[in-house]
Amino acid sequence: MNALMVIDLLKDFLEPQGALYCGEAARQIIPFVTAKVTEFRQKEQPVIFIMDAHQKDDLEFNRFPVHCLAGSWGAELIDDLADQAEEYALAKKIFKQRYSGFYGTPLAENLRELAPEEVQVVGVCTNICVLYTVEELCNRDYKVVVYRQGVASFDLQAHNWALAQMESVLGTNVL
Ligand SMILES: [Zn+2]
Repeated sequence: MNALMVIDLLKDFLEPQGALYCGEAARQIIPFVTAKVTEFRQKEQPVIFIMDAHQKDDLEFNRFPVHCLAGSWGAELIDDLADQAEEYALAKKIFKQRYSGFYGTPLAENLRELAPEEVQVVGVCTNICVLYTVEELCNRDYKVVVYRQGVASFDLQAHNWALAQMESVLGTNVL
């Protein structure tokens, strides 16, 4: 069994009026990501939605504008995915406060229980939350696939660098 990890497909990052909109490159991954979620549903394999959810005094706001406040519009999954996440019994939401989906969350435990053969990763931003979550998957010896068509960043150069880094240093299979 494989697991799909969908990182930060949230309105503040994906909607043009969002607080930290990642741009057209990010919008372009939406059809690929929704198709992957559908594929996993059809195969009855787990989908984990990793979701930024900050308190208003989060120190991350010293580095980035205020975004994804817990419970706000911007912290919601994009409309294309919201129903999928609600309807699908094997979907799980993990709320995080840091770049890594593991820090301060039950993700490590959830994955241990699932014991997937492979973790497939899509989402934003390639060089931030995707990279630092993939690094932690690597620490835990998971076999990881990252789809080029399924990840994006507001910074194309950093996106390309991060894909190369995941492939050459973290041993990720970049497809
Ligand atoms: Zn954040």
